[in-house]
Amino acid sequence: MQQHLSAIKDSKFCPIWHDQDDVRPAELPPLSDDQVCELLIVGGGFTGLWAALQVKERQPEVDIILIEKTFIADGSSGRNGGFLNSSLAHGETNTDHHFPGEADKLHELGQQNMAELLATLERYNIDARYENVGETEVATDQYAVDEMRKHYQEEKAAGDDVVWFDQAQMQAQVNSPTYLAGLWRREGKDGIVDPARLCWGLKKVLLELGVRIFEHTPLDSCQPLGTDKMQSQCLGYTITSKKVLMATNAYRNPIRAVSRTTIPVWDYQMATEPLNQAQLDAIGWHKTRHAIGNYANMFHYYRLTKDNRITWGGGGAVRYYFNKGTDFAKYADIPERFEQLSKEFFQTFPQLAGLKFSHRWSGIIATSTRFCMVPGATYNNRLAWAVGYTGLGVGASRFGARIGIELLGYQPSEILKMQFVTKKPMPWAPEPFRWFGVKFTQNALIKADRNNGKRGLWLKMLDAMNLGFTC
Ligand SMILES: Cc1cc2nc3c(=O)[nH]c(=O)nc-3n(C[C@H](O)[C@H](O)[C@H](O)COP(=O)(O)OP(=O)(O)OC[C@H]3O[C@@H](n4cnc5c(N)ncnc54)[C@H](O)[C@@H]3O)c2cc1C
Repeated sequence: MQQHLSAIKDSKFCPIWHDQDDVRPAELPPLSDDQVCELLIVGGGFTGLWAALQVKERQPEVDIILIEKTFIADGSSGRNGGFLNSSLAHGETNTDHHFPGEADKLHELGQQNMAELLATLERYNIDARYENVGETEVATDQYAVDEMRKHYQEEKAAGDDVVWFDQAQMQAQVNSPTYLAGLWRREGKDGIVDPARLCWGLKKVLLELGVRIFEHTPLDSCQPLGTDKMQSQCLGYTITSKKVLMATNAYRNPIRAVSRTTIPVWDYQMATEPLNQAQLDAIGWHKTRHAIGNYANMFHYYRLTKDNRITWGGGGAVRYYFNKGTDFAKYADIPERFEQLSKEFFQTFPQLAGLKFSHRWSGIIATSTRFCMVPGATYNNRLAWAVGYTGLGVGASRFGARIGIELLGYQPSEILKMQFVTKKPMPWAPEPFRWFGVKFTQNALIKADRNNGKRGLWLKMLDAMNLGFTC
């Protein structure tokens, strides 16, 4: 059997982050009668959890119910790479494209969001295994070296804390024969976390603050009741509330305006068994532990866990399935996706031949046409949402939650006037155009990666319409 196949043969189909019996909390019982509250939050990922906490901190008297259709951290929030990045709008290039003139403000808000997030972990003693290691982008093609160098020079000139590694320096940091250069952004507090521990830590705090949480409680419908209430149905029971926050991200939502904002893009990930000392020495990464991504459209992202496993995701395995497919039984465990990931892993680290993957899993990335979070509100601001972080929501979701609760009237601030909040994203096309469009774009991105980054006509057209995703 080829080594990339034998490496995944015995892997467990479960996110590495979920497989921690020592910290995984008991699941709470589902809703079993009608309820009344001031604020109903739908979705027990980062957005929902942070929203509940920020409301409680602003106005402790608010009575909150949070419902989650499966269990807390079962959505993207417990399935991601754990890269904690301060960017709110998916990087500087994307920020400039979509929110001209707001880059500085968004940068400042991103730093503030990160500082407050970390302060909250301290305040409530949440051990999310945060490591302030920054993020290193690696070049594996000559065009990537050239483009990354330009970024480095611009960022350096702007006063950012960035370090350039030539090939030898990069390989001395992390030894992959594929690396030609590296750009270490060690600025600020960017780093890595264990995302499930973060969710479960927040869950514990919310319970202590009196938030009522019902797991295994899917929202079926939600509509206005009179002029000042909302009525939500779950499992045959009714929750009557003054306000509702939809924190459902990539999943279908009974409110059309929420559902049509994003498309679900599946991303597959794996984790190796813990590396032994010889394996660690062979790559040298454990000395710096930077989070790593390669400069490409279809990029891989990878990091070390506390016990020195490597988590590895992204690359060519990312997929959109027809008609917003989110069926776990159908799409979550597709062998070819993991085979491809495994193959790409051993191309990057051939010296780790023989290493096995212990876990494999997948999750759904809520992708908006502006490649970052989209907030909104309806029914006279009785119902709000914050969804669509695309691939960068671990940190940004706390800010999304803040916008969501401010839209509902919990101490609104100046941020609600920013284009980031007021500008409506371009809607996704209906099927089958959407499927063809995404497929065509993905193929064009793969082609650009193979062709020294040269973007063909289709990508140039998308760029001109501000719909092009750039690395
Ligand atoms: C594989 C993968 C890797 C990623 N890596 C990174 C990374 O390294 N760094 C980064 O910044 N971002 C990353 N992301 C993105 C990041 O994980 C998300 O942006 C973030 O977790 C979004 O949080 P959320 O709470 O909005 O959504 P979710 O965590 O998806 O939470 C939504 C919740 O709503 C629940 N729900 C949905 N519908 C209903 C309903 N009708 N009733 C009740 N509950 C409902 C779901 O079950 C789910 O738990 C990654 C995403 C994936 C999938």
